[in-house]
Amino acid sequence: MATRGKKMVERVKDLMDKPERIRNIGICAHIDHGKTTLSDNLLGGSGMISMDLAGKQLFMDFDEEEQARGITINAANVSMVHEVNGEEYLINLIDTPGHVDFGGDVTRAMRAVDGAVVVVDAVEGTMPQTETVLRQALRENVRPILFINKVDRLINELKIEKKEMPVRLGKVIDHVNKLIRNMSPENYEKQNLKLDAAKGNVCFGSALYKWAVSVPSMKNTGIGFNEVYDYCQAGNMKELSQKSPLHAVLLDAVVHYLPTPLEAQKHRIPVIWKGDKDSKVGKNLMSCNPNEEIVFMVTKILTDPHAGEVAVGRLFAGTLQRGQELYISGTAATDRVQSVAITMGAERMEVERIPAGNIAAVTGLRNAIVGSTGSTVRDMTPFEAIKHVSEPVMTVA
Ligand code: GDP
Repeated sequence: MATRGKKMVERVKDLMDKPERIRNIGICAHIDHGKTTLSDNLLGGSGMISMDLAGKQLFMDFDEEEQARGITINAANVSMVHEVNGEEYLINLIDTPGHVDFGGDVTRAMRAVDGAVVVVDAVEGTMPQTETVLRQALRENVRPILFINKVDRLINELKIEKKEMPVRLGKVIDHVNKLIRNMSPENYEKQNLKLDAAKGNVCFGSALYKWAVSVPSMKNTGIGFNEVYDYCQAGNMKELSQKSPLHAVLLDAVVHYLPTPLEAQKHRIPVIWKGDKDSKVGKNLMSCNPNEEIVFMVTKILTDPHAGEVAVGRLFAGTLQRGQELYISGTAATDRVQSVAITMGAERMEVERIPAGNIAAVTGLRNAIVGSTGSTVRDMTPFEAIKHVSEPVMTVA
Protein backbone atom coordinates (compact mmCIF):
# COMPACT_ATOMS: atom_id res chain seq x y z
CA MET A 1 0.00 0.00 0.00
CA ALA A 2 1.27 3.45 -0.83
CA THR A 3 2.04 5.99 1.88
CA ARG A 4 -0.95 8.14 1.14
CA GLY A 5 -3.28 5.30 2.02
CA LYS A 6 -1.54 4.56 5.27
CA LYS A 7 -1.62 8.16 6.25
CA MET A 8 -5.29 8.34 5.53
CA VAL A 9 -5.98 5.33 7.75
CA GLU A 10 -4.05 6.94 10.60
CA ARG A 11 -6.01 10.16 10.21
CA VAL A 12 -9.28 8.26 10.16
CA LYS A 13 -8.28 6.31 13.28
CA ASP A 14 -7.51 9.53 15.16
CA LEU A 15 -10.84 11.06 14.25
CA MET A 16 -12.89 8.01 15.20
CA ASP A 17 -12.49 8.92 18.86
CA LYS A 18 -13.79 12.44 18.38
CA PRO A 19 -17.52 12.23 17.73
CA GLU A 20 -17.80 16.01 17.40
CA ARG A 21 -15.61 15.62 14.30
CA ILE A 22 -17.69 12.83 12.74
CA ARG A 23 -20.53 13.11 10.25
CA ASN A 24 -22.34 9.97 9.09
CA ILE A 25 -24.11 10.80 5.87
CA GLY A 26 -25.92 9.30 2.90
CA ILE A 27 -26.58 10.73 -0.53
CA CYS A 28 -30.02 10.13 -1.93
CA ALA A 29 -31.80 11.10 -5.08
CA HIS A 30 -34.34 10.27 -7.70
CA ILE A 31 -32.80 8.07 -10.39
CA ASP A 32 -30.55 9.94 -12.84
CA HIS A 33 -30.40 13.09 -10.74
CA GLY A 34 -26.69 12.48 -10.18
CA LYS A 35 -26.12 10.49 -7.00
CA THR A 36 -23.41 8.28 -8.50
CA THR A 37 -21.60 11.13 -10.20
CA LEU A 38 -21.70 13.14 -6.99
CA SER A 39 -20.46 10.28 -4.79
CA ASP A 40 -17.53 9.62 -7.11
CA ASN A 41 -16.74 13.28 -7.18
CA LEU A 42 -16.63 13.56 -3.40
CA LEU A 43 -14.33 10.57 -3.20
CA GLY A 44 -12.08 12.09 -5.82
CA GLY A 45 -11.93 15.37 -3.99
CA SER A 46 -11.09 13.78 -0.68
CA GLY A 47 -8.04 12.11 -2.16
CA MET A 48 -9.47 8.62 -2.05
CA ILE A 49 -9.56 8.28 -5.82
CA SER A 50 -7.95 10.42 -8.42
CA MET A 51 -9.94 13.38 -9.68
CA ASP A 52 -9.38 12.29 -13.26
CA LEU A 53 -11.01 8.96 -12.70
CA ALA A 54 -13.73 10.24 -10.44
CA GLY A 55 -15.90 11.20 -13.36
CA LYS A 56 -15.51 7.78 -14.91
CA GLN A 57 -16.90 6.08 -11.83
CA LEU A 58 -13.81 4.03 -11.26
CA PHE A 59 -12.64 3.27 -7.83
CA MET A 60 -9.02 4.05 -7.39
CA ASP A 61 -7.55 3.18 -4.10
CA PHE A 62 -4.19 4.12 -2.67
CA ASP A 63 -3.17 0.62 -3.68
CA GLU A 64 -1.57 0.27 -7.10
CA GLU A 65 -3.07 -3.12 -7.66
CA GLU A 66 -6.60 -1.96 -6.95
CA GLN A 67 -5.90 0.89 -9.26
CA ALA A 68 -4.80 -1.39 -12.04
CA ARG A 69 -7.84 -3.58 -11.59
CA GLY A 70 -10.14 -0.58 -11.76
CA ILE A 71 -12.50 -1.76 -9.07
CA THR A 72 -15.82 0.05 -9.17
CA ILE A 73 -17.16 1.66 -6.10
CA ASN A 74 -19.40 -0.86 -4.51
CA ALA A 75 -18.78 -0.46 -0.87
CA ALA A 76 -21.06 -0.17 2.09
CA ASN A 77 -19.22 2.78 3.46
CA VAL A 78 -16.40 5.07 2.53
CA SER A 79 -14.59 7.16 5.08
CA MET A 80 -13.22 10.51 3.96
CA VAL A 81 -11.28 13.20 5.73
CA HIS A 82 -12.29 16.80 5.08
CA GLU A 83 -10.71 19.92 6.50
CA VAL A 84 -12.65 23.00 7.57
CA ASN A 85 -10.82 25.98 9.09
CA GLY A 86 -7.73 23.90 9.75
CA GLU A 87 -9.65 21.15 11.58
CA GLU A 88 -10.08 17.66 10.16
CA TYR A 89 -13.45 15.91 10.03
CA LEU A 90 -14.28 12.29 9.36
CA ILE A 91 -17.10 11.95 6.87
CA ASN A 92 -18.53 8.46 6.65
CA LEU A 93 -20.45 8.25 3.42
CA ILE A 94 -22.80 5.30 3.53
CA ASP A 95 -23.59 3.83 0.20
CA THR A 96 -27.21 4.18 -0.70
CA PRO A 97 -28.50 1.70 -3.21
CA GLY A 98 -28.17 0.70 -6.70
CA HIS A 99 -31.56 1.45 -8.08
CA VAL A 100 -32.59 -2.17 -8.46
CA ASP A 101 -33.38 -2.57 -4.83
CA PHE A 102 -34.17 1.07 -4.40
CA GLY A 103 -36.46 1.34 -1.43
CA GLY A 104 -35.10 -1.40 0.75
CA ASP A 105 -31.51 -0.34 0.58
CA VAL A 106 -32.22 3.34 1.06
CA THR A 107 -34.17 2.42 4.11
CA ARG A 108 -31.31 0.46 5.58
CA ALA A 109 -28.70 3.06 4.80
CA MET A 110 -30.81 5.73 6.49
CA ARG A 111 -30.69 3.87 9.79
CA ALA A 112 -26.90 4.16 9.88
CA VAL A 113 -26.64 7.87 9.05
CA ASP A 114 -27.54 11.11 10.80
CA GLY A 115 -27.66 13.39 7.78
CA ALA A 116 -28.61 13.13 4.12
CA VAL A 117 -27.57 15.08 1.06
CA VAL A 118 -30.69 15.13 -1.07
CA VAL A 119 -29.79 15.60 -4.72
CA VAL A 120 -32.33 17.20 -7.03
CA ASP A 121 -31.87 17.85 -10.73
CA ALA A 122 -32.23 21.59 -11.39
CA VAL A 123 -34.09 20.97 -14.63
CA GLU A 124 -36.44 18.19 -13.56
CA GLY A 125 -37.07 19.39 -10.03
CA THR A 126 -38.40 17.03 -7.37
CA MET A 127 -39.63 13.66 -8.59
CA PRO A 128 -41.44 10.72 -6.93
CA GLN A 129 -38.28 9.11 -5.58
CA THR A 130 -37.18 12.45 -4.15
CA GLU A 131 -40.30 12.25 -2.02
CA THR A 132 -39.62 8.64 -1.09
CA VAL A 133 -36.08 9.25 0.07
CA LEU A 134 -37.05 12.41 1.95
CA ARG A 135 -39.86 10.60 3.71
CA GLN A 136 -37.50 7.83 4.69
CA ALA A 137 -34.90 10.27 6.00
CA LEU A 138 -37.46 12.14 8.07
CA ARG A 139 -38.97 8.96 9.41
CA GLU A 140 -35.53 7.98 10.73
CA ASN A 141 -35.03 11.52 12.04
CA VAL A 142 -32.16 12.07 9.63
CA ARG A 143 -31.52 15.73 8.81
CA PRO A 144 -31.53 16.70 5.12
CA ILE A 145 -29.49 19.26 3.24
CA LEU A 146 -30.06 19.96 -0.45
CA PHE A 147 -27.76 19.76 -3.44
CA ILE A 148 -29.32 21.13 -6.60
CA ASN A 149 -27.41 19.40 -9.38
CA LYS A 150 -27.06 19.89 -13.14
CA VAL A 151 -27.21 23.67 -12.87
CA ASP A 152 -25.05 23.74 -16.01
CA ARG A 153 -28.05 22.42 -17.95
CA LEU A 154 -30.18 25.40 -16.99
CA ILE A 155 -27.62 27.65 -18.62
CA ASN A 156 -26.28 25.61 -21.51
CA GLU A 157 -29.30 23.56 -22.52
CA LEU A 158 -32.34 25.50 -21.36
CA LYS A 159 -30.52 28.76 -22.01
CA ILE A 160 -32.37 30.62 -19.32
CA GLU A 161 -31.51 34.24 -18.68
CA LYS A 162 -29.13 35.19 -15.94
CA LYS A 163 -31.76 36.83 -13.79
CA GLU A 164 -33.99 33.79 -14.07
CA MET A 165 -31.45 31.53 -12.43
CA PRO A 166 -32.05 32.38 -8.75
CA VAL A 167 -35.80 32.32 -9.37
CA ARG A 168 -35.78 28.81 -10.81
CA LEU A 169 -33.45 27.50 -8.14
CA GLY A 170 -35.57 29.17 -5.47
CA LYS A 171 -38.60 27.28 -6.74
CA VAL A 172 -36.83 23.95 -6.31
CA ILE A 173 -35.92 24.87 -2.73
CA ASP A 174 -39.50 25.96 -1.99
CA HIS A 175 -40.80 22.71 -3.30
CA VAL A 176 -38.47 20.58 -1.21
CA ASN A 177 -39.36 22.66 1.84
CA LYS A 178 -43.04 22.06 1.19
CA LEU A 179 -42.40 18.33 1.07
CA ILE A 180 -40.44 18.39 4.32
CA ARG A 181 -43.02 20.54 6.08
CA ASN A 182 -45.87 18.31 5.01
CA MET A 183 -44.07 15.12 5.90
CA SER A 184 -42.78 16.24 9.25
CA PRO A 185 -44.56 19.42 10.39
CA GLU A 186 -43.42 19.16 13.99
CA ASN A 187 -39.72 18.65 13.29
CA TYR A 188 -39.79 21.23 10.52
CA GLU A 189 -40.37 23.77 13.27
CA LYS A 190 -38.73 22.17 16.27
CA GLN A 191 -35.55 20.99 14.58
CA ASN A 192 -35.50 23.88 12.16
CA LEU A 193 -35.38 21.69 9.06
CA LYS A 194 -36.15 24.50 6.65
CA LEU A 195 -33.74 24.60 3.74
CA ASP A 196 -32.51 28.11 3.25
CA ALA A 197 -29.84 29.14 0.79
CA ALA A 198 -28.92 32.09 3.01
CA LYS A 199 -28.21 29.71 5.89
CA GLY A 200 -25.93 27.62 3.69
CA ASN A 201 -27.76 24.30 3.83
CA VAL A 202 -28.43 24.40 0.09
CA CYS A 203 -25.64 24.02 -2.50
CA PHE A 204 -25.97 24.52 -6.24
CA GLY A 205 -23.69 22.94 -8.76
CA SER A 206 -22.74 20.37 -11.27
CA ALA A 207 -21.56 16.93 -10.22
CA LEU A 208 -20.46 16.21 -13.78
CA TYR A 209 -18.33 19.32 -14.09
CA LYS A 210 -17.24 19.28 -10.43
CA TRP A 211 -18.18 22.74 -9.24
CA ALA A 212 -20.65 24.05 -6.70
CA VAL A 213 -21.57 27.23 -4.89
CA SER A 214 -23.44 28.07 -1.70
CA VAL A 215 -24.12 31.41 -0.06
CA PRO A 216 -21.20 30.93 2.38
CA SER A 217 -18.89 29.77 -0.44
CA MET A 218 -19.83 32.83 -2.51
CA LYS A 219 -18.55 35.01 0.32
CA ASN A 220 -15.25 33.16 0.42
CA THR A 221 -14.52 32.72 -3.26
CA GLY A 222 -16.32 35.62 -4.88
CA ILE A 223 -17.95 33.13 -7.24
CA GLY A 224 -21.69 33.78 -7.23
CA PHE A 225 -24.53 33.02 -9.63
CA ASN A 226 -23.39 35.70 -12.08
CA GLU A 227 -19.92 34.21 -12.32
CA VAL A 228 -21.33 30.68 -12.57
CA TYR A 229 -23.52 31.79 -15.44
CA ASP A 230 -20.61 33.39 -17.29
CA TYR A 231 -18.27 30.44 -16.80
CA CYS A 232 -20.89 27.98 -17.97
CA GLN A 233 -21.82 30.04 -20.97
CA ALA A 234 -18.18 30.43 -21.91
CA GLY A 235 -17.73 26.65 -21.65
CA ASN A 236 -15.04 27.18 -19.02
CA MET A 237 -16.30 24.96 -16.27
CA LYS A 238 -12.81 23.64 -15.62
CA GLU A 239 -11.77 26.99 -14.18
CA LEU A 240 -15.04 27.20 -12.28
CA SER A 241 -14.32 23.82 -10.67
CA GLN A 242 -10.87 25.01 -9.65
CA LYS A 243 -12.20 28.22 -8.13
CA SER A 244 -15.22 26.68 -6.45
CA PRO A 245 -14.76 22.91 -6.23
CA LEU A 246 -17.82 20.81 -5.53
CA HIS A 247 -16.32 18.57 -2.86
CA ALA A 248 -15.07 21.50 -0.79
CA VAL A 249 -18.32 23.46 -0.97
CA LEU A 250 -20.60 20.52 -0.28
CA LEU A 251 -18.50 18.89 2.45
CA ASP A 252 -18.25 22.28 4.19
CA ALA A 253 -22.05 22.33 4.24
CA VAL A 254 -22.10 18.75 5.54
CA VAL A 255 -19.78 19.66 8.40
CA HIS A 256 -21.68 22.84 9.28
CA TYR A 257 -25.27 21.72 8.91
CA LEU A 258 -25.44 17.99 9.47
CA PRO A 259 -25.31 16.79 13.05
CA THR A 260 -22.54 14.98 14.90
CA PRO A 261 -23.43 11.52 16.24
CA LEU A 262 -23.60 13.07 19.70
CA GLU A 263 -26.31 15.55 18.71
CA ALA A 264 -28.06 13.15 16.37
CA GLN A 265 -28.42 10.24 18.76
CA LYS A 266 -30.26 12.46 21.24
CA HIS A 267 -32.95 13.08 18.61
CA ARG A 268 -32.82 9.80 16.78
CA ILE A 269 -32.77 7.21 19.58
CA PRO A 270 -36.30 8.06 20.83
CA VAL A 271 -37.57 7.49 17.28
CA ILE A 272 -35.69 4.35 16.30
CA TRP A 273 -35.53 2.60 19.68
CA LYS A 274 -38.50 2.00 21.93
CA GLY A 275 -36.67 0.89 25.06
CA ASP A 276 -36.55 2.84 28.32
CA LYS A 277 -34.54 6.04 27.74
CA ASP A 278 -33.84 6.30 31.46
CA SER A 279 -32.36 2.82 31.72
CA LYS A 280 -28.59 2.45 31.71
CA VAL A 281 -28.51 1.28 28.10
CA GLY A 282 -30.97 4.03 27.12
CA LYS A 283 -28.73 6.70 28.60
CA ASN A 284 -25.70 5.20 26.87
CA LEU A 285 -27.50 5.28 23.55
CA MET A 286 -28.70 8.84 23.99
CA SER A 287 -25.20 10.01 24.89
CA CYS A 288 -23.32 7.86 22.32
CA ASN A 289 -21.25 6.51 25.20
CA PRO A 290 -18.15 4.59 24.03
CA ASN A 291 -17.22 3.33 27.50
CA GLU A 292 -20.13 1.05 28.30
CA GLU A 293 -22.12 -1.81 26.79
CA ILE A 294 -22.01 -2.32 23.04
CA VAL A 295 -25.06 -1.60 20.88
CA PHE A 296 -24.45 -2.23 17.20
CA MET A 297 -27.11 -2.23 14.53
CA VAL A 298 -26.46 -4.17 11.33
CA THR A 299 -27.63 -2.31 8.23
CA LYS A 300 -25.93 -4.28 5.49
CA ILE A 301 -24.26 -7.68 5.06
CA LEU A 302 -21.51 -7.92 2.49
CA THR A 303 -19.71 -10.94 1.21
CA ASP A 304 -15.99 -10.53 1.17
CA PRO A 305 -13.92 -13.07 -0.79
CA HIS A 306 -11.40 -13.32 2.06
CA ALA A 307 -13.37 -12.64 5.20
CA GLY A 308 -16.71 -14.20 4.27
CA GLU A 309 -19.74 -12.38 5.63
CA VAL A 310 -19.14 -8.87 6.88
CA ALA A 311 -21.83 -7.15 8.94
CA VAL A 312 -21.75 -3.42 8.38
CA GLY A 313 -23.66 -1.09 10.61
CA ARG A 314 -23.85 1.73 13.05
CA LEU A 315 -22.28 1.51 16.45
CA PHE A 316 -24.58 3.48 18.74
CA ALA A 317 -22.82 2.69 22.02
CA GLY A 318 -19.70 0.98 23.38
CA THR A 319 -16.42 0.20 21.63
CA LEU A 320 -16.13 -2.78 19.32
CA GLN A 321 -13.08 -5.01 19.57
CA ARG A 322 -12.07 -8.43 18.42
CA GLY A 323 -13.03 -11.25 20.75
CA GLN A 324 -16.16 -9.68 22.24
CA GLU A 325 -19.27 -11.83 22.58
CA LEU A 326 -22.43 -10.17 21.29
CA TYR A 327 -26.02 -11.24 21.77
CA ILE A 328 -27.82 -11.08 18.46
CA SER A 329 -31.41 -9.88 18.68
CA GLY A 330 -34.10 -12.31 17.61
CA THR A 331 -31.85 -15.31 18.19
CA ALA A 332 -30.72 -17.22 21.25
CA ALA A 333 -27.19 -17.02 19.94
CA THR A 334 -24.09 -15.12 20.83
CA ASP A 335 -21.46 -14.49 18.21
CA ARG A 336 -17.83 -13.63 18.75
CA VAL A 337 -16.43 -10.58 16.99
CA GLN A 338 -13.56 -11.82 14.85
CA SER A 339 -12.42 -8.53 13.39
CA VAL A 340 -13.49 -4.93 13.23
CA ALA A 341 -12.75 -2.72 10.29
CA ILE A 342 -13.56 0.52 8.59
CA THR A 343 -14.22 0.46 4.87
CA MET A 344 -12.47 2.77 2.51
CA GLY A 345 -13.63 2.20 -1.00
CA ALA A 346 -13.72 -1.48 -1.73
CA GLU A 347 -11.11 -2.08 0.92
CA ARG A 348 -11.69 -3.16 4.50
CA MET A 349 -9.11 -1.75 6.86
CA GLU A 350 -8.87 -3.75 10.05
CA VAL A 351 -8.46 -1.66 13.16
CA GLU A 352 -8.07 -2.61 16.81
CA ARG A 353 -11.14 -0.83 18.04
CA ILE A 354 -14.06 1.25 16.85
CA PRO A 355 -15.83 3.57 19.30
CA ALA A 356 -19.52 4.62 19.37
CA GLY A 357 -20.75 7.03 16.72
CA ASN A 358 -18.90 5.29 13.88
CA ILE A 359 -19.75 2.87 11.12
CA ALA A 360 -18.13 -0.52 11.59
CA ALA A 361 -17.57 -3.58 9.41
CA VAL A 362 -17.56 -6.64 11.65
CA THR A 363 -16.79 -10.27 10.91
CA GLY A 364 -17.85 -13.21 13.04
CA LEU A 365 -21.50 -12.23 13.53
CA ARG A 366 -22.78 -15.35 11.83
CA ASN A 367 -26.29 -15.11 13.20
CA ALA A 368 -26.82 -11.48 12.32
CA ILE A 369 -29.13 -10.39 9.53
CA VAL A 370 -29.88 -6.92 8.25
CA GLY A 371 -31.77 -5.20 11.04
CA SER A 372 -30.19 -7.26 13.86
CA THR A 373 -28.97 -5.57 16.98
CA GLY A 374 -25.72 -6.99 18.35
CA SER A 375 -25.11 -6.14 21.98
CA THR A 376 -23.22 -7.16 25.08
CA VAL A 377 -26.52 -6.64 26.91
CA ARG A 378 -28.40 -9.94 26.99
CA ASP A 379 -31.97 -8.68 27.00
CA MET A 380 -31.37 -5.53 24.99
CA THR A 381 -34.52 -4.07 23.45
CA PRO A 382 -33.81 -4.33 19.71
CA PHE A 383 -34.11 -1.37 17.40
CA GLU A 384 -37.35 -0.71 15.62
CA ALA A 385 -37.78 -2.81 12.51
CA ILE A 386 -36.47 -0.94 9.49
CA LYS A 387 -39.58 0.01 7.60
CA HIS A 388 -39.55 0.06 3.88
CA VAL A 389 -41.38 2.99 2.37
CA SER A 390 -41.81 2.35 -1.32
CA GLU A 391 -44.54 4.46 -2.82
CA PRO A 392 -44.98 8.15 -2.28
CA VAL A 393 -48.44 8.55 -0.87
CA MET A 394 -48.55 12.29 -1.09
CA THR A 395 -47.86 14.87 -3.72
CA VAL A 396 -47.44 18.56 -3.30
CA ALA A 397 -48.96 20.94 -5.76
P1 GDP B 1 -27.93 8.50 -10.44
O1 GDP B 1 -28.88 7.61 -11.16
O2 GDP B 1 -28.65 9.44 -9.50
O3 GDP B 1 -26.79 7.79 -9.76
O4 GDP B 1 -27.34 9.48 -11.56
P2 GDP B 1 -25.92 9.45 -12.29
O5 GDP B 1 -24.87 9.99 -11.42
O6 GDP B 1 -25.71 8.12 -12.90
O7 GDP B 1 -26.21 10.53 -13.43
C1 GDP B 1 -27.20 10.35 -14.40
C2 GDP B 1 -26.80 11.07 -15.68
O8 GDP B 1 -26.75 12.47 -15.46
C3 GDP B 1 -25.42 10.68 -16.19
O9 GDP B 1 -25.47 10.62 -17.59
C4 GDP B 1 -24.54 11.81 -15.73
O10 GDP B 1 -23.40 12.01 -16.54
C5 GDP B 1 -25.49 12.98 -15.81
N1 GDP B 1 -25.12 14.05 -14.87
C6 GDP B 1 -24.85 13.92 -13.54
N2 GDP B 1 -24.55 15.11 -13.02
C7 GDP B 1 -24.67 16.02 -14.01
C8 GDP B 1 -24.46 17.44 -14.06
O11 GDP B 1 -24.14 18.10 -13.09
N3 GDP B 1 -24.66 18.04 -15.29
C9 GDP B 1 -25.03 17.34 -16.38
N4 GDP B 1 -25.20 18.01 -17.52
N5 GDP B 1 -25.21 16.00 -16.37
C10 GDP B 1 -25.03 15.35 -15.18
